[in-house]
Amino acid sequence: MQTYIEELAQELYQRFGNDLSKVAVVFPNKRASLFLNEALAKLGNGTPLWSPSYITISELFRHYSNLEVADQILLVCRLYTVFQRVTGYDNETLDRFYGWGQLLLADFDDLDKNMADAEKVFQVVTDLHQLDNDEYLSGKQREALKSFFKNFTDDSTSKMREKFMHLWSRLHEIYTTFREELRNDGLAYEGMLYRDVAEAKSLSFDYDAYYFCGFNWTQKVEQRIFDRINLERKATFKWDDKECPPKSVTYISAPTETMQARYVHDWLLENDRYKDGAKTAVVMADEHLLQTVIRSLPDEITKVNITTGYPLSQSPAVSLLQMLIELQTVGRTSTAGQFNKRYTKKVEGHPTTKYLTDEHRKLIYQNTDDICLEGYDILNTNAKLTIYLQNIIKQVAQDGTEANALDKESFFRIYQILQRLLTLILDGTLIVDIVTYRRLLVQIINSTTVPYHGEPIEGIQIMGILETRCLDFDHVLLLSCNEGNMPKGVNDSSFIPHTVRKAYGMTTVENKVGIYEYYFHRLLQRTNDVTLTYNSSTEGINTGEMSRFMLQLMAETDIPIRRVSLQAGQDNQHITPKAVRKPQACTAPGTMSYISPSSLSTYLRCQVRYHYEQILKLREPEDDDIDELDNRIFGNIFHHASELAYKDIMDDKGFIHAPILKRTLEDERKIAGYVDTAFREELFMKQAGGETEKYTGIQIINRRVIIRLLKDLLRHDLQNTPFRIAGLELKVSAPLTIGDTCVTIGGYIDRLDIIGNEHQGYTIRVVDYKTGFREQGEMGSIDDIFDPANISKHSDYFLQTMLYSIIVRNSKEANPDSLPVVPALLFVQRTRREGYSPILEIAGNPIKDIKELEHDFVGLLAQLIAEIRDNNRDFRPTPDTSRCQYCPFRQMCGI
Ligand code: SF4
Repeated sequence: MQTYIEELAQELYQRFGNDLSKVAVVFPNKRASLFLNEALAKLGNGTPLWSPSYITISELFRHYSNLEVADQILLVCRLYTVFQRVTGYDNETLDRFYGWGQLLLADFDDLDKNMADAEKVFQVVTDLHQLDNDEYLSGKQREALKSFFKNFTDDSTSKMREKFMHLWSRLHEIYTTFREELRNDGLAYEGMLYRDVAEAKSLSFDYDAYYFCGFNWTQKVEQRIFDRINLERKATFKWDDKECPPKSVTYISAPTETMQARYVHDWLLENDRYKDGAKTAVVMADEHLLQTVIRSLPDEITKVNITTGYPLSQSPAVSLLQMLIELQTVGRTSTAGQFNKRYTKKVEGHPTTKYLTDEHRKLIYQNTDDICLEGYDILNTNAKLTIYLQNIIKQVAQDGTEANALDKESFFRIYQILQRLLTLILDGTLIVDIVTYRRLLVQIINSTTVPYHGEPIEGIQIMGILETRCLDFDHVLLLSCNEGNMPKGVNDSSFIPHTVRKAYGMTTVENKVGIYEYYFHRLLQRTNDVTLTYNSSTEGINTGEMSRFMLQLMAETDIPIRRVSLQAGQDNQHITPKAVRKPQACTAPGTMSYISPSSLSTYLRCQVRYHYEQILKLREPEDDDIDELDNRIFGNIFHHASELAYKDIMDDKGFIHAPILKRTLEDERKIAGYVDTAFREELFMKQAGGETEKYTGIQIINRRVIIRLLKDLLRHDLQNTPFRIAGLELKVSAPLTIGDTCVTIGGYIDRLDIIGNEHQGYTIRVVDYKTGFREQGEMGSIDDIFDPANISKHSDYFLQTMLYSIIVRNSKEANPDSLPVVPALLFVQRTRREGYSPILEIAGNPIKDIKELEHDFVGLLAQLIAEIRDNNRDFRPTPDTSRCQYCPFRQMCGI
C-alpha cells in the first residue's frame, strides 16, 4: 500500500514534473521532508530533480515578521516583572511564579493564536469571579492557587479571594503591558507574532503553489493565512483521511514501564521485524523510556534513527550540575578554598568528570568568590556561580571527546541555559537569591528536552508520538499507551475557564483530545502490524488504565485484538544477567591462595557478583556521609566500643569477674566514654584523645542505641561470670588442601572466650556479635549451610562462625588443651529474651563441640572451593532475582 508521503510525491511529480523549485510544502514539522525527498527521487528514477522548499508552519509565519520569538526563560522573566508591577505582588519569588508564568504565557499564546478579543475574554473572566463562580477550578487547581499565594500571611478564605480577584481583574492589563514591552524590544511570544502576521494588511506569497500537509487541526491564525493563500489560488490541502484499519493489533499489558521498554528487544526480533529497517517504528508515548529502549535494542540492529525530545533532567550532565552547585554552596567549609570531602567525592565520582584533564580538574575547586568577568566591576553570587558552572560544563564537553552524542548535546543545552540565565542576571532582569536561583534552574531543566535527531530514512525508527505525523510504517510498537500519555498533558490548567475558552473559540480540552485521537488513529491506519503496550500497575501515580483510544478501538471496531500480559519475572532474555566465563587467572596455580568466609558467602549469593568483587576487584563506592550511619559503620562502632569495654574490664589474665562488670554497668559515663571513643575512631576518624566531634541529630540517636546495646551485652555476659576472654578481634587462619593446591582460609573473630568451671568442664566459644535484629534461620544439616538457596536464611553466618570454630579447635596456640569449641552468634538485641542462648544449632540441637561436624563441613568446603576453581564452569548469575534488587552491580548486569 502507498504511504501518505508516496501519494503526495506522486501528486507533486505528476503536477510539476522535475521542477518543484516554485513549490512550498508546509509540514507541521521538518521530519517528513526527508521521506518526501526520498519518494520524489524514486519517482524521478535517477533524473535530476529540483526539490520543493520545505517550510514548517512556524517558519512560514516568522518569515513575515520583524519580531523575534524570545525564549521561554526570557519571556517568563519579563512577564514576572510586568506581573509584579501591575498586581503589586512583589513578594512572590520568581521560582514560585515560574510555573504560573508558563501557564499565563500559554493562555496569552492560545488567545492570540485563536485571535480572541483579549479585552472581552479577560472582562468575562473577571465578571465570572465577581459572581463568585470559581467552581470550575478543580480541587487540585484550588490547592495550587493557595500554594501560589501562600506567601501572604493572612490566608483566610476571604483574603485569598480578594487576592484572586485582584489578579483576575489585572489579567488584561498584564497582557497588554507585556505585549507592548516585548514589542518595544523587537520581541514576541509565538502567538503574538502569528497574530501580527495573520492581521497584516498585505502579505506576498512568493511560491507558485503551497501544499499544506498533515494539518488535522488548525488555529484561527493558521486558517487566516491558509485562506489568504487560497484566495490567490495557490493553496492545496492534503488531508490524510484514508480509512485502512490495521490487520493485526496486539495489546500488551506490563506491570512496569521498564518492562515495556525492554519488550522492544523481543518485538524487534519477532518475525524479523528489525530487518524492515525504516519501515519499523518504536513510538514512545512517554519519552522517559528512551534510555531503556536504547539499551534494549538487540545486537542484530546496526542502524537506528532516534527522533524525539530527550528529557534533559535525565542526562548525567544535570546531576553533575547539581553536585557542583552543592559543592560550592553547602559543600564549602569555613576555611577558604576548602570543601567537605563528602561533596568532593561525589563530584570526583561523577562519570563525566573523568573526562577532565588533571589541569582542568582544578576548575572544580575554584573559589567562586574569585570569579570575575571582563567589563563588570561587581558580580553578584548568582553570576559568579553561573560562570563557574559554565566553565566546567564547557571544559567537560571539550575534554570529553569520547562522550556519547547525547551527553555532548546535553552539555550544550545546559551551557545555553546557563548563558541565558547569565545574560538575564547581568542585565538586571533576574535578581533573585541563591535558593530561588537554584530552584529556577531546576525548573528550567525539568521543562527542557534535548532534541535527538538522526538520519531519518535509515534503520529502525525510534520516536515520540508527535514525530509520527505524516509518516507510515509497516510495523509499529507504541509504548506506554496509558491514559494520561495518550492523550498527553490534556488538562484544564488555565487562567481562563473552559466555558469562556469555548465561547471565544480558544483551544479547549476537547480539541486537545481530538488532536491526539487523530495521531493515534493516523498511526494505525496504514499499518498492518500494530502492538500497543501499557502499564497495568496501579501503584503510585499509575492508574493502570489503557488509553481511552485503545478502549475505543475495542468497543467501536471489529478489528481482532490479541491480548497478552507480560508478567513480573518473565523478563526478556537480553537483560537476564549473563554467565561469565571464568578467567584463567582465577584458577592458575598460586592464585586464590587466601580465601575469606565472606567471599565464599558472596559466591553462594551470586557467582557473577563474586566475579565482580573477587576477580575484577570492583568495590562499592563508600558513602562518606558522616551524618548517616549505615549498618556497617554502626556495627563497627559497636564492635569497637565492646572491645574497649572488655579490655578495660578484664584482669591481666583475661578474666571477667562479676563485681567489676556490675560496677561498669552502673557507671553511665564510663560506658558512654567507650562509645564516644569508638565514634571518634570509627566515624570521625580521629585518634583517641582528640577533640570530640559534635554529634548531629541522627548520630545522637545512634549513640544512644549503641550505649543501650553495650549495656545489654554486658548484662548478658554477667550470667556467665566468671569467664575468661582469650582474644578480642583475634586473627585466625588455617591451611586447607584441595586436590593438589593448598589455600589459606581465615579472618577475624570478634571474641574468643572460655566459659564453664572445674566441675562441668570448660568450653571455648567463638563469639560473633550481631547488631541487627533478624536472626539466622534454621539449618537442618551441614549441607544446608552450603546450599545457595539458604543465603537468605543467613546460612553465611553459620559458615563463617563454624569455620572459625574449626580453625580454633585445631589450633595448638588458641586451644592447647584441646577443649570443645562452640560457635556462637550473639544477637545483642535479643539478649534480653528469657533463656537466650547464642550457641548455634543444627537440626534444632545446640552444637556441643565443632569437632563432631568438622569432617562433613570441611568436605563440603573443599568441594565449594574446588567448584570456584573449576575452569570448566562459568560464573553463573543467581536464579533468585530478588537478590539483584540491592546488588551494587545491578547496572553492570543490565538490571
Ligand atoms: S545484579 Fe544479580 S546477577 Fe548481577 S551480580 Fe548482582 S546479584 Fe548477581
